Amino acid sequence: MTQIIDGKLISTQIKDELKLEVESLKEKGVFPGLAVILVGNNSASQVYVRNKKTACEYVGIKSFSYELPEETSEAQLLELIDTLNHDDKVHGILVQLPLPKQIDENKIILSIVPEKDVDGFHPQNVGALCAGLKGFVSCTPAGVIELLKRSQVEIAGKNCVVVGRSNIVGKPVSLLLLQEHGTVTICHSKTKNLTEILKQADIVVAAVGRANMIKGSQLKEGAVVIDVGINRNEEGKLCGDVDFASCEGVASQITPVPGGVGPMTIAMLMHNCVLAAKNKLNS
Ligand code: NDP
Repeated sequence: MTQIIDGKLISTQIKDELKLEVESLKEKGVFPGLAVILVGNNSASQVYVRNKKTACEYVGIKSFSYELPEETSEAQLLELIDTLNHDDKVHGILVQLPLPKQIDENKIILSIVPEKDVDGFHPQNVGALCAGLKGFVSCTPAGVIELLKRSQVEIAGKNCVVVGRSNIVGKPVSLLLLQEHGTVTICHSKTKNLTEILKQADIVVAAVGRANMIKGSQLKEGAVVIDVGINRNEEGKLCGDVDFASCEGVASQITPVPGGVGPMTIAMLMHNCVLAAKNKLNS
């Protein structure tokens, strides 16, 4: 029988734990704050930002919202970030990506001080992850590891196959699995024998962005499957990178889409905000 890993339930548990931590921080005079910046009218981004603000409210984090017009210049955004970098009420700064064409995303990521980079995208935090040092881990990869741990999936010594090598998901999740002592293989669009590699996997993390690409017939019996993908199928319905129906009866555990990794990304963002506030308290 295939067990469903309930990301919604696990993310709520995490947010409830964080709520208690926030209460205790507030008793010490620290009021965690997250600045959320949205530039333009991308409808998906608007939904993500709304969900992040709702999560802040739930956990007790104050969110400072900045909704800027599509034509905002790079200089204007850099100026706002500079102000927030120096604002003691703001512990974390989140700039919702993608940004309009006139703004260089890399420049923006670099402009956020690493201590407030709760998305974990700044090269200093990425470098810390590579070197096994303390820093902010980007939210989706951290959410994947948390899902595995809280579902009692042993990572040490297991064959872990990550499909996708992006900077925001594939690469960091591979590093985290390695840190947990998994034996990690990273696949991408030029990988020649994907099915052969998948057949060896005890744990599969799919981060490709192609609807229902990975089929149950490509998996090893009993594999644990974490599906990061968020896609629309031909009928316009949300679906993952893994063909969920064909994995039932083959995988031992699997995340659904929606309701798997998605809610975990937001829970880990809240985790990073609380960590930023705690770091401030201890600095
Ligand atoms: P990218 O497009 O940046 O990366 C996709 C990766 O998949 C690339 O490394 C690419 O290889 C690889 N790939 C493409 N086609 C194939 C193939 N046929 N076989 C093997 N590998 C392939 O995507 P992201 O990492 O940003 O996102 C991946 C998915 O995760 C998307 O659906 C996205 O919406 C979702 N996502 C979900 C989040 C959540 O909170 N749940 C957060 C972030 C993303 P190559 O490098 O060679 O091009």
